[in-house]
Amino acid sequence: MQPEAVLIRFELPQGGDRLLPQSITTHTGNFERIDIGVINRQGGEKWASHWPTDVRHLATGPFLSVPVPGVSSDTAQIVARVVRPWGKTTLSEMRLDPLTDGSGWPLQMIVAMGAICGMLLVPLLINSAFYSVLPERYVIWHLVMVSAMLVQAAFATGFFHLLTPFGAQWEWQASNIAFAVMCWAALLFATNFLEKDCLDPRLRQWAEWLGPAVGVAGVISCIPLEAVRPWSSLIMHLSVCLGIVTVGAIMVDARRKGSRAVRFQIVGWTPLMTIGMWRILAYIVPAFHPTEAILQYQLALAFEVLVTASGIVSRFVDVRHERDRATARAIELEGMADRDPLTGLRNRRTIETHFDEMFRRGFRTMAVLDLDHFKVVNDTHGHATGDMVLCAVAKALADDRDTRAIRMGGEEFLLLLRGPDAATRAERCRRAITTRIASEVPGLERIVTASMGLVEHDTRGNLQIDFVSLYARCDQLLYEAKRLGRNRTMREKVTGFQAVTAQA
Ligand code: GH3
Ligand code: MG
Ligand code: MG
Repeated sequence: MQPEAVLIRFELPQGGDRLLPQSITTHTGNFERIDIGVINRQGGEKWASHWPTDVRHLATGPFLSVPVPGVSSDTAQIVARVVRPWGKTTLSEMRLDPLTDGSGWPLQMIVAMGAICGMLLVPLLINSAFYSVLPERYVIWHLVMVSAMLVQAAFATGFFHLLTPFGAQWEWQASNIAFAVMCWAALLFATNFLEKDCLDPRLRQWAEWLGPAVGVAGVISCIPLEAVRPWSSLIMHLSVCLGIVTVGAIMVDARRKGSRAVRFQIVGWTPLMTIGMWRILAYIVPAFHPTEAILQYQLALAFEVLVTASGIVSRFVDVRHERDRATARAIELEGMADRDPLTGLRNRRTIETHFDEMFRRGFRTMAVLDLDHFKVVNDTHGHATGDMVLCAVAKALADDRDTRAIRMGGEEFLLLLRGPDAATRAERCRRAITTRIASEVPGLERIVTASMGLVEHDTRGNLQIDFVSLYARCDQLLYEAKRLGRNRTMREKVTGFQAVTAQA
């Protein structure tokens, strides 16, 4: 609870060539009024009052400064009476200052703080970029968390005075609300970032409820009403304390359940939570000196942000690997569905699906090949030898840039070819079947030949023909070749609507 008024007395030692204080500097915070009294050795007093709207705010640290009027070597005491203070650090960090306008942080500290604020920008940019490829809720919560940290850091360092003429009387509300939003987002990031099955559902539910509650508590603690004032800090500190304990419980539970993601949270959040708890204890326990531990706190913040951002990057890499593996599996499965398992050639389904496109791309010559008396091979040498023969055929019919080979089923194959010499190449393939079988399957009683029915299209025409009709025509020609004694090709050239049949 905050007291009605606090009196802070500074005794000035007598004599010597000491530097006389010109102002009082303290941590920013809200209060109703600060009265400054200068008391001399004869007992004379001089008082001046200051309100939040007329104190001087520094841009080099979270400090405000009030002038001390008429200090001389005769001054014995300087008294500051803070009426209705909202926070303790305005009291605990009060000091006499030799400069009229108050003094802030030394240059090294300003540079360090500037660097820390700059570091917060890195995950902000990385996450914004990642969200387009990794649209997960935890990326959004991390973005909200880091943005709130940046806003809070701007206030906690006083740097915002450099950027905007934002009224200093609203500073503590803005800072508290940013802090509450940060805690809210941190809790939801903690639950969302973990793998689904690595967190007790009740703990998840509690955290998802507590997040907004901390946000609301932050807003309530900022309502500038006297009824709220005594409780403001306590509400804020207790809700944050609950948040820290909850995150701790989440980390323990997720670790026990074997979460990988939680390792980043444990490393990133332990320093921040330790400093947070220290600050809260220092605030709540009367025996401790209340402190903002601002440098340690900002360092821990920046560390936390960088570690959790690396967690997101690592998750992104995992997701990408998983997606690549899934794509590879899909390609493999698709490939298997499109291929004949025995020979590895494309199957009938593939050509039926892609025929129109192939025809447009110039594959306008179709040849259907069938082994002659293949049944005899099977009957004489067995099915396994028959399979070897079929594999040898597949090798003789290998694809090239202008040729596609398909096993239609059984010992029937189909070639789709393009180019002016398509018919000649198909014929070469047919003949190659015999030599290939002879070399790959030794010990066959007789040579294996193939018959072929081939239809060529005049490549200049715009004629479009469907697969079924063309295939049926090739099959007729094949039948004709069989009828005429096998081991031959019957071919036909279609020019416009005329068909010319010939025997090869
Ligand atoms: P034709 O010259 O008239 O084409 O005579 P054929 O004996 O080649 O034709 P038929 O249709 O009478 O016999 C084809 C044989 O092919 C029958 C079947 O057992 C065999 N066959 C079909 N698929 C396979 C296979 O995957 N492996 C093996 N080894 N044989 C197969
Ligand atoms: Mg046959
Ligand atoms: Mg057949």
